[in-house]
Amino acid sequence: MLDNSVMSQESKTNTGVAVPIAVAMGDGIGPEIMKATLRILDAAGANIEPHTIEVGEKVYLSGETAGIGKEAWETIRKCKIILKAPITTPQGKGYKSLNVTMRKSLGLFANVRPVTSLHPYIKTFHTDMDVVIVRENEEDLYAGIEHRQTQDVYQCLKLITRPGSEKIVRYAFEYARAYGRKKVTCMVKDNIMKITDGLFHKVFDEISAEYPDIESETQIIDIASARLAAKPQNYDVIVTSNLYGDIISDIAAEIAGSVGMCGSANIGKEVSMFEAIHGSAPDIAGQAIANPSGLLNGAVMMLAHLGQNETADKIKNAWLRTLEDGYHTADIYQEGKSAKKVNTGEFADAVIERLGQNPEKLPMSTLASGSGEINIPDYNRKKEDKTLVGVDLFIDWEGSDANEIGNNLSKVTGGNLQLKMITNRGVKVFPNGMPETYCTDHWRCRFVPFKDGAPVYETEAYASVLELLNNANAAGFDVVKTENLYHFDGGRGFSLGQGE
Ligand code: NAD
Repeated sequence: MLDNSVMSQESKTNTGVAVPIAVAMGDGIGPEIMKATLRILDAAGANIEPHTIEVGEKVYLSGETAGIGKEAWETIRKCKIILKAPITTPQGKGYKSLNVTMRKSLGLFANVRPVTSLHPYIKTFHTDMDVVIVRENEEDLYAGIEHRQTQDVYQCLKLITRPGSEKIVRYAFEYARAYGRKKVTCMVKDNIMKITDGLFHKVFDEISAEYPDIESETQIIDIASARLAAKPQNYDVIVTSNLYGDIISDIAAEIAGSVGMCGSANIGKEVSMFEAIHGSAPDIAGQAIANPSGLLNGAVMMLAHLGQNETADKIKNAWLRTLEDGYHTADIYQEGKSAKKVNTGEFADAVIERLGQNPEKLPMSTLASGSGEINIPDYNRKKEDKTLVGVDLFIDWEGSDANEIGNNLSKVTGGNLQLKMITNRGVKVFPNGMPETYCTDHWRCRFVPFKDGAPVYETEAYASVLELLNNANAAGFDVVKTENLYHFDGGRGFSLGQGE
């Protein structure tokens, strides 16, 4: 349960007023698995009051390109909790992903996906896997800020922020503590992206120090993904940024054999959304054979978030027992191993019959044994001294001789700013570049103050940058972008060029 949320104290305790939740029935198999899930929640005594909202295909086709209308937003704003069945995004241009819209508009900063293997009842590559992936959900390359700058070069901005990193890393540690997990592993690529991933790593080190009861470690994402695929039993909670998290959470679900079984939570400070990870499965829609387990697991996470941990455990344990007893929908049915192939409704009935029972072989769900309390304090920006020490001009130039552009640009100045070096795709090509380096039409030209004929990263007025830009323009250079070079409290806020 996320503290600071707007839920009343009563609703947190499972005894008071029923918690209003917005329910999206979804498309394809959505309504079938949602009905089954709600039936199980009701039978288990979940203290919720569902309010149906209209989102998805019908809304898209009515002309709302985001797949959600005003009324649904209002219900979400009132309820603060959403249980959502998968929806179908119509093919064709102009339709925006509802999930991305919801995540960004509602500030759902954490995507939490527990992945457990259910051997021998579900086919899996690994028999003892129990991992929770906590993925940053709002920033990184998913900010969607892309530009084409030259004929050759397209750019996507990777934004990693301190508030975003602090929120997600703290969420991972709070989650670990709240649910009795022992270790948090941070995954980054800061050997290459020293500033952006470096920040994420630094924040992880700072925050992990506040949780001495939880083991912490950092791994480089490439080898970490390989290790996760080979030895998932070595991982407990994983925290990482948006793109890496997107990739490893699918790897994890796939190797556990549970793509169709996993639930997922999208947690925000005000609003949170719970769902299955799979899609609307139009190929089997309307046949009443879909497996409701993914959505049910999403609903179990929702109950834990609401503080209804005992009900969450009750449902999860009955579900595990149902799988052990061999009641399997067609997607997980194994001839000779499963006891009975059941449809969606029969599966729900089997879970309901087992409410109050525990699994005999699979590990029991013990959500209620943790505190369930998750505390994310407000972000406090620390004031740092920011000084301008240079500028990178990105120039579109179709030539191939770095010395030619370098020698010409060396004649262009602004205040104390003079050309220090040029890189092409990050590799230094002027002065003293290597003839083998391939150059595109996108030249990053670094101007810094010169003192006594030597370049120094020292304070310079912004007016010098404007003068430099004017002079570069007058000299016929096509400047497509500038990036100011700053020091923050004296520390370098930019990367050096390879070979600088
Ligand atoms: P999908 O997950 O819907 O289906 C992939 C395969 O898994 C299909 O063979 C399907 O029959 C099977 N499957 C999925 N869920 C199942 C279940 N509960 N029980 C039994 N079998 C199940 O992926 P897709 O076919 O790529 O996408 C279909 C639609 O879903 C697309 O419109 C896509 O945009 C949408 N989608 C929505 C969400 C979401 O709303 N969160 C997520 C992913 C995809």
